[in-house]
Amino acid sequence: MDVSCLNCGNTSKDLVYLKCVYNGEEKHVCVRCLPMLIHGQH
Ligand SMILES: [Zn+2]
Repeated sequence: MDVSCLNCGNTSKDLVYLKCVYNGEEKHVCVRCLPMLIHGQH
């Protein structure tokens, strides 16, 4: 399964990705970007 982070575009296989919904579409976000998304920083 190919996943890429919606925030940083990372596709590295050694990162953990979480499924999420963004703009009504199913996306993935890597754990590195999760804190940024939680805190609303861009
Ligand atoms: Zn990311």
